[in-house]
Amino acid sequence: MSKPQQVRGTVVIDVEACKGCDLCIEACKPEVLAMTTAETNTRGYRFPQLLVGCTGCRACADVCPDFCFSVFRFDEPKTWTAESGLQ
Ligand code: SF4
Ligand code: SF4
Repeated sequence: MSKPQQVRGTVVIDVEACKGCDLCIEACKPEVLAMTTAETNTRGYRFPQLLVGCTGCRACADVCPDFCFSVFRFDEPKTWTAESGLQ
């Protein structure tokens, strides 16, 4: 059984607006954003993908020069496990 992880929020990423600058990766203190390695948007840029453990802190939205992030904070923290997903 995998270790449960607490998740306080989530983000929707407008990947087509992304220019692959990596600023959001550095800004995300929980380190739950990772750039694609091979996949690119239609303009040829790599873009961030969300891993498990977002806190809804908005740091990514604040730093992104292209307004790619919509951030949502849950009213109550959720728990994620590999077996059950987000509950
Ligand atoms: S809201 Fe915060 S924790 Fe979530 S992806 Fe953005 S910077 Fe990371
Ligand atoms: S900060 Fe914005 S433009 Fe830069 S890589 Fe992240 S999502 Fe893309």
